Amino acid sequence: MRFSKSFIKTLKETPKEAETASHKLLLRASMIKKLTSGVYTYLPLGYKALKKVENIVREEMDRAGAQEILMPVLQPAELWKESGRWEVMGPLMMKLQDRNKRDFVLGPTHEEVITDLIRNEISSYKSLPLNLYQIQTKFRDEIRPRFGLMRGREFVMKDAYSFHTSQESLDEEFLNMRDAYSRIFSRCGLKFRPVEADSGAIGGSGSQEFHVLAESGEDEIIYCDSCEYAANVETATSKVEPAPVEELKAAELIDTPNVSKIDDIVNYLNIPYSKTVKAMMYRDMGTDQVYMVLMRGDYEVNETKLRNVINAVDVTLLTDEELVKHGLIKGFIGPYGIELKDIKIIADEEVTKINNHTAGGNKLDTHYINVNYGRDYTADIVADVKTVKPGETCPRCGGKLHSARGIEVGHIFKLGTKYSQALNATYLDDKGESKVMIMGCYGIGVSRTLASAIEQNNDEFGIIWPSALAPYVVDVIPANIKNEDQVKVAEEIYNALLADGIDSMIDDRDERPGFKFKDADLIGFPFKVVSGKKAGEGIVELKIRRTGETLEVSKDEVVAKVRELMKQY
Ligand code: ATP
Ligand code: MG
Repeated sequence: MRFSKSFIKTLKETPKEAETASHKLLLRASMIKKLTSGVYTYLPLGYKALKKVENIVREEMDRAGAQEILMPVLQPAELWKESGRWEVMGPLMMKLQDRNKRDFVLGPTHEEVITDLIRNEISSYKSLPLNLYQIQTKFRDEIRPRFGLMRGREFVMKDAYSFHTSQESLDEEFLNMRDAYSRIFSRCGLKFRPVEADSGAIGGSGSQEFHVLAESGEDEIIYCDSCEYAANVETATSKVEPAPVEELKAAELIDTPNVSKIDDIVNYLNIPYSKTVKAMMYRDMGTDQVYMVLMRGDYEVNETKLRNVINAVDVTLLTDEELVKHGLIKGFIGPYGIELKDIKIIADEEVTKINNHTAGGNKLDTHYINVNYGRDYTADIVADVKTVKPGETCPRCGGKLHSARGIEVGHIFKLGTKYSQALNATYLDDKGESKVMIMGCYGIGVSRTLASAIEQNNDEFGIIWPSALAPYVVDVIPANIKNEDQVKVAEEIYNALLADGIDSMIDDRDERPGFKFKDADLIGFPFKVVSGKKAGEGIVELKIRRTGETLEVSKDEVVAKVRELMKQY
């Protein structure tokens, strides 16, 4: 591509709306252009990079034995009503009606459509297992679209779905996909980590996310420093230490004027946080059942775990009004000394291990001390519902847990029979008996992966593309466009690079070299080839974007040298 003819409009200033490095640089380097919130046009450079990610994904999915298809974006409501998700997904779905007032949705994901396809097309165990995938634009009306391509309302996803006759066959494919994902993100030049993830109401161990490690990541990852354990904080667990044995004392109601927060209680009574228990009041938004969640004072409730424990789609904290309605006094709520009507108690498992803990007195300005689980109160459910903190003990090896930020670029998931059951996707086994298919699904945020690559590879001058994703690998720059030798050598090298299949540009604009270098650094070409003063002798400069190194190379050796360097950068 000739720069002079290209549709590239780089920006000097950083657009105000952009917060993260990838958002700023995608806009400044003329990769994308916003149409409306969470919706972008891919400009030529951005689209080239996106296709590079797509192709890596495609090659590795094909290599792993999956077959590519393309399903419709437009999906009839009936299928979603059949699976029960028309209601559950709610406002996340971009819904619309046709001229006959029939409801449709622009696909946010494709479990329903693929299950419908397979239930109609496959009837025998002989056709299974099967893994089908597509690379396609998805639509989700996100509450907070942000960070450019990171969280769009329209974005490109690779989604794959597999169908099996046995759990073992699904387990095997899950590992196959996990390996394929590792190859994909390695080839993209990313620093990433597979982590255990929430499997929602389905449960089980079959859910892993792939996270690109970056400070700007929206997710928190908990990982162990001495073993392989790594998990999204939504699901991370830690080893519950046995409480020191202590003589149980008699519970006692004491005055705690204006002392309602855990921090204040710790100070007021001069006790450790590990002796306090707080009561958080939650409502299941589906069933309206109210829960008192008991948590050690220094931990937060993990709402993902809570939802799973009570099988709720969503939960919310009670409002002040609701507290009053239930006869509860904000800041002084506890499980002891109160008659709880219609309220269920969930105790975090740590709580059941604390001897002589504090609890709200259920009267204004009072607390109980020396309350004990089992003796003074019990819970309807005891479960792990706390948010793990760095510094805790690894649940697997006893090592120390740490925390890091991550961007979820992929998610592999053992679905089991959730959709095949709902949509009645069955097959006949070798005895002629009808069985429900077992499913897996595997997603990659293709456009998010592109943004993540920039998040990990940039400096104050711009993007530093790994060669595998760079829209163009080399920018050939004649330093002075009026110098015949320089132009001739630059053109020669440019053509040689193209002939060798290396995506390259030539900056043939009549601009000063410094101006062209700035654009080149912003756009992030891994290599610049500058045809300057020594062009007459057949010598050019090869500059490596990542290291800032400059090599003098004979014009005939440029292609081979670039090929060699591409393996490293
Ligand atoms: P998130 O938790 O970030 O909202 P998700 O868990 O809802 O994502 P999945 O349904 O697992 O997403 O979708 C598969 C992949 O698609 C995700 O791993 C992510 O990389 C990507 N993805 C999901 N939502 C978006 C979005 N709004 N914009 C860009 N990529 C997205
Ligand atoms: Mg996910």
